Amino acid sequence: MREACGVFGVYAPGASVARLTFDGLFALQHRGQESAGMAVSDGETMTVVKEMGLVTAVFDERTIASLVGDLALGHVRYSTTGRSTWDNAQPVYRSVGAAGFSLGHNGNLTNTAQLAASLGMLPGVVSSDSDLIAELLARRFLVAPEPDETLLVDALMDVLPLLEGAFSLALIDEAQLVAVRDPHGFRPLCLGQLTYFVAGQERRGWVVASESPALEVIGAELVREIDPGEMIVADHNGVKSSHPFGAERVEPRLCVFEFVYFARPDSRLEGREVYATRRHMGELLARRSPVDADLVIGVPDSGVAAAEGYALASGVPYGQGLIKNRYIGRTFIAPTPEARLSGVRRKLNPLRASIAGKRLVVIDDSIVRGTTTREIVRMLRESGAREVHLRISSPPFAWPCFYGIDTPVREELIASRMPVDGVCAHVGADSLGYLSLEDLMTAVGADSEGTGFCRACLTGIYPAPVPIDL
Ligand code: AMP
Repeated sequence: MREACGVFGVYAPGASVARLTFDGLFALQHRGQESAGMAVSDGETMTVVKEMGLVTAVFDERTIASLVGDLALGHVRYSTTGRSTWDNAQPVYRSVGAAGFSLGHNGNLTNTAQLAASLGMLPGVVSSDSDLIAELLARRFLVAPEPDETLLVDALMDVLPLLEGAFSLALIDEAQLVAVRDPHGFRPLCLGQLTYFVAGQERRGWVVASESPALEVIGAELVREIDPGEMIVADHNGVKSSHPFGAERVEPRLCVFEFVYFARPDSRLEGREVYATRRHMGELLARRSPVDADLVIGVPDSGVAAAEGYALASGVPYGQGLIKNRYIGRTFIAPTPEARLSGVRRKLNPLRASIAGKRLVVIDDSIVRGTTTREIVRMLRESGAREVHLRISSPPFAWPCFYGIDTPVREELIASRMPVDGVCAHVGADSLGYLSLEDLMTAVGADSEGTGFCRACLTGIYPAPVPIDL
């Protein structure tokens, strides 16, 4: 199971754009821990630094100090399509004659193979869907008569309508920052404004980021979320918005799992704070799935907000029961099931005195394979918990995602293999309850049809074509 990526871009001539990008990427680290990179342009030269590893491992003071420019683009990656190699780290950079651009992609195209084949590309010419987008743009650059400042935007206007699936993109050339959200807006992307000073003079810059906290940490203000199907161009003229896709293709479908798990709790999505939404999920879960118990605990970090909500609505006291090592990333980083298992032990340790002899309600946001959850239940029992009642603040995750999260194949998703009581037995809990789809929709502010959201992982109804038969 892999995560969505994070993108960040800034147009702010005279500011320390590399430092701002570093801070922005650091705030987006939860969206991808496999590689990090940035491209910085000073108007003439574009420099790209990217490497496997965490943001703090890839960039140090010296690297950042050496990256001077007017605008920058950053990316943190967890591979969706394409293997986990240096070649696939982003930003992707292409130069064609005197012109060049860099691109960062969050999402996953669903027509990569068809597009590559229809263009007569031999297998292997492009290494990932993001690379394909860059290649398509570069080919437009090649046939352009004279490189000028509209080249990148003109190329995008041609290429974007060919793409299907999920893509929140940020790009830079020598003079402008561009951001695009696919017509469904599967992955988030927001626009911010930065006020800064150069030699005592106040200036305005523009920032785009996958999530709003990346704006806040650099002192930028959230202007608004970029709309599904919208393209934003920021340069010395300010910001321009356009719509490269036909209006008939625009159908908002933000990934509901951003609310459930991916996004930071302090993010704002669809104008809603993720933390408050998660708490609400917990409250609704308590009403629908009550249990006699002594203590509600959340699995850190993903289950904590919903646990608070569950406790509030049920009247069962909330407390901590599992302590997470602060220096650890997400468990799924570990590639093999064995490594993943020991990863749980490394990451979480029970608070024995608090849980011994108690009937626990344990809240987590989701069960995917069931591996981690089973280990957690065992750990709690070994620490003396009398009963372990598991409550999950989303409906059963039964269908793979093709729009930016590389989930396991269907057979590996435990909810697709067995009914709820089977999952309960597998993970070894005394009882198991999931949030209903209806309650999830209430929490995120959607109608019962889920208008505005993609919930394919929960329903198997895919709003855009998927590349395989299920
Ligand atoms: P498991 O019991 O092995 O299915 O793991 C469940 C845990 O995985 C829960 O704590 C979730 O918060 C977490 N989780 C859900 N989705 C993802 C994801 N895409 N990447 C990593 N962890 C996830």
